[in-house]
Amino acid sequence: MDPAKRAGVGARSETHLEEQVKDWLRYGEDLGLAPYYRDRPLWHAIAEATSLETRSFTTSSDISSAVPAAIPSTVPTTMADATSRRAPASAIIVTPSPSASQKRAPAATILPAAAPSLFEAIERIAGDTLPRIREDIGDCTRCKLHKARTKIVFGTGNPNADLMFVGEGPGRDEDLSGEPFVGRAGKLLTDMIKAMGLQRDDVYIANVVKCRPPENRLPEKDEITTCSPFLMRQIDAIRPKVICTLGSCSAQTLLQTAQGISKLRGEWFDFRGVKLMPTYHPAYLLRNPAAKPEVWKDLQKVMAVLGLQPKKR
Ligand code: URA
Repeated sequence: MDPAKRAGVGARSETHLEEQVKDWLRYGEDLGLAPYYRDRPLWHAIAEATSLETRSFTTSSDISSAVPAAIPSTVPTTMADATSRRAPASAIIVTPSPSASQKRAPAATILPAAAPSLFEAIERIAGDTLPRIREDIGDCTRCKLHKARTKIVFGTGNPNADLMFVGEGPGRDEDLSGEPFVGRAGKLLTDMIKAMGLQRDDVYIANVVKCRPPENRLPEKDEITTCSPFLMRQIDAIRPKVICTLGSCSAQTLLQTAQGISKLRGEWFDFRGVKLMPTYHPAYLLRNPAAKPEVWKDLQKVMAVLGLQPKKR
């Protein structure tokens, strides 16, 4: 295993890498993560450099016929960026499909990583489990979101799922029920999962923040910083084969980038050794159904990696 390769820093020396990791840990302290990780040894686990195959996918007419909901042909060109983040993108592996729009990066482009991401510098907790993570969250008052919440929305699904969806944060229905994605956007997500030939119980669904932001506003930076370590632990405990992030907040949080979702979606990234596919949020699809073909293309890439067949109609 080659640590320098893993960290995306080419032939730089291990000493230099160590300095970079220390920088990131200092950055973590600036963000207030230190109390959470202080007593734990530095995570130096180096996963193998991931290589993803470029796969060929069906045409959009094939795609349309596989999706239960009607899919209009027009697609949006932009989507407003949500939160802006200062850290650079993690090591990124990009494998656009042959049918990707011409605006997309050329095949097999590997975007440069300035440094290991903060989350790559975070150690894994050996033997961590979802019940233990839930217990550690407790009746959380770590950030201001606790003040208006009804229920903490931890996450649901198969603890051994191959596929994990990560949304932004609970909405009103989720706040009341304690379950992620149960409102209108949730129903659409359920349809998307079924179209992939799966049931909701087959996958795991979680959010970046576990309490509802008032009036469904975007989660704020301090809230994301406080809550996202629990998401990291959930991901590490589940070890899915693929993470599908929904919307800009989760993609930007996990990839530590300020890139907009319309640039990120449809490309493969590496997140701590797990393949990560960003796509649009189902709530965005409710407002912009014309974007459904783009999402279905992204989901087809996920299906190809997981060996899934679309649901027969
Ligand atoms: N939107 C999200 O991002 N997450 C939910 O759980 C529900 C709606």
